[in-house]
Amino acid sequence: MSVSGNLQKILAELGSVQLVAVTKYAAPEQMQELLDAGYFTLGENKVQSARQKAEQYRQYPVQWHLLGHLQTNKARQAVQIFELIQSIDSEKIAAAVARAAAQINKRQKILVQVNIGREPQKSGAAPEQLGALLEYCARRPELQTLGLMALAPDLLDREQTRPYFREMKELFDCYSVQYGLEILSLGMSGDYSVAVQEGANMVRIGSKLFTGE
Ligand SMILES: *Cc1c(COP(=O)(O)O)cnc(C)c1O
Repeated sequence: MSVSGNLQKILAELGSVQLVAVTKYAAPEQMQELLDAGYFTLGENKVQSARQKAEQYRQYPVQWHLLGHLQTNKARQAVQIFELIQSIDSEKIAAAVARAAAQINKRQKILVQVNIGREPQKSGAAPEQLGALLEYCARRPELQTLGLMALAPDLLDREQTRPYFREMKELFDCYSVQYGLEILSLGMSGDYSVAVQEGANMVRIGSKLFTGE
């Protein structure tokens, strides 16, 4: 199916759940098809590639989301490009983003990323550090913390992701009132149905959108 066909199908399935179209592997013609279809909430996992695409497609009203790990030396570029930085995972990076945002008089929207599978190769705050990190971000007026993001471990059986998403929903419910959290960003092409069933209200989909799988 075409990109716009895949898009319509996914949007219909998601209903009120927000879709971030992940363009990191999209070919230029696929990018163009997505933009021609009028979809402008796009995710990239590297500052550099988002910067190139933001430049290339600057005539479109794209809202870029950063999904990958952010290094402090890229914070200045990041606040210039991204509507939402989904991958804040330490006080150090939160402080760097806050400083960079202050310099351009921006209030930067962020999500705090949680390493819900406690996987050493993945970034994200440990669940037990989440409260302290949310408190730290809440004290920085240049940051607007909108919610939480996580990736489930890459399990072969998607049903096995369910407990991780469920635990994320519990953390979200635990902190949402105190910190005014609205967004729970969980689920990718392979596991978004489970994530939505468990309470995600934002999903990040790449391969299913561009290859149908
Ligand atoms: C690449 C990526 C996605 C999308 O993955 P697909 O399997 O292609 O849907 C979602 N979230 C993050 C953090 C990613 O890096």
